[in-house]
Amino acid sequence: MEFCYRCSLCGRTFSIDPQLTLCPDCVKQQQKDQPLSGVLDVELNGTADQQFDIFDLLPVEQKYFPPAPVGGTPLWQPKNLRRELGFSKLFIKDDGANPTSSFKDRASFLVSAFAKKFGIQDIALASTGNAGSSMAGIGAAAGQTITLFLPKYAPVAKLVQALQYGARVYRVDGSYDLAYDLSLEYSLKNGGMNRNTAYNPMTIEGKKTVSLELYQQLGRTPDVVFVSVGDGCILSGVYKGFRDLQQLGLIPEVPKIIGVQAETSNALCRALASGRFTAEPTSTVADSICVDVPRNGAHALTQIKKFGGELISVSDNEIIQAQARLSASTGLFTEPASAAAFAGFLKVSSKLEQDALITVLATGNGLKDSASAQLGINMPERLISTVTDIL
Ligand SMILES: *Cc1c(COP(=O)(O)O)cnc(C)c1O
Repeated sequence: MEFCYRCSLCGRTFSIDPQLTLCPDCVKQQQKDQPLSGVLDVELNGTADQQFDIFDLLPVEQKYFPPAPVGGTPLWQPKNLRRELGFSKLFIKDDGANPTSSFKDRASFLVSAFAKKFGIQDIALASTGNAGSSMAGIGAAAGQTITLFLPKYAPVAKLVQALQYGARVYRVDGSYDLAYDLSLEYSLKNGGMNRNTAYNPMTIEGKKTVSLELYQQLGRTPDVVFVSVGDGCILSGVYKGFRDLQQLGLIPEVPKIIGVQAETSNALCRALASGRFTAEPTSTVADSICVDVPRNGAHALTQIKKFGGELISVSDNEIIQAQARLSASTGLFTEPASAAAFAGFLKVSSKLEQDALITVLATGNGLKDSASAQLGINMPERLISTVTDIL
């Protein structure tokens, strides 16, 4: 298999090089408070049969990957939910089962291997929490040095996780957007690799593995995939996996993908409706999808339009309700950003065919933000000391 970069905006191709992040032509059109201009797609050229090995479809050789069991996550068949909702072919892909408990490991895994291949030891990034704790953990497995910029409101579990893995962590007095800018400035001055989402082409490429796995686990493509959306990198990654499968002649078409945003942080939904991105301050209980400027917004929107995808918004209340419902009816406890995808499914389910094969991506484990999860439950206040107190 041969690989190169292709600019998602102008289509120019480049050979893969760790010094190249955005298209050098299109980056000149970058405007303030707008999505990245000139995000690079990895393009593959070659053939593969149905029994392909996922590593063969990745642009870094298997020997460079760290010894961590990333991907191969379980596909749940939630019996109670299927019965309650009437969807007999509903599946939930549990990416909270990755080593650091979020989907982000798929990107970190490839970024780590990419850096290793080119002898780069230092990796820096900004994160709402999960990308950082992920890169810290995968970097620990690889023996790499990780520098992380976290917004001050990142859930404490994600901060603690990153520190446990031995990352150097800077807490930023501001939002994720400020952390993003600071981490880029740091990398430009300090060298090494920057793993910022969409800026590093391997982030989207690494995330494509979820679609390759779904195809292998189901023996076909789903009819509809629900995915929560912040920067829009997972969305583009999901598309990329299916696009690769289509290019290889293994599937006839790319399935319908429905991106779900939080109502109070829905820049992509607004841009789809209005035709342009407007930065607005955001806040949502789903911290992992709380983004003022979706860095991969332009690329993600192009995919949505090209392949007939949809974008919908859900309220924080819907997210919290969906989180508790998913936990209680399946045993799968996910964080709010992850539950957003399920909330989106619940919201539009009446418009879907009941026999459609539906996959909801569960992107992060619920224990990563137990404070938010408390909003959806009643904490028992009363203390008891004998059983007769309750009988
Ligand atoms: C990062 C993240 C998302 C959203 O991914 P984007 O690429 O930013 O759109 C969704 N859920 C969880 C748990 C995440 O960590």
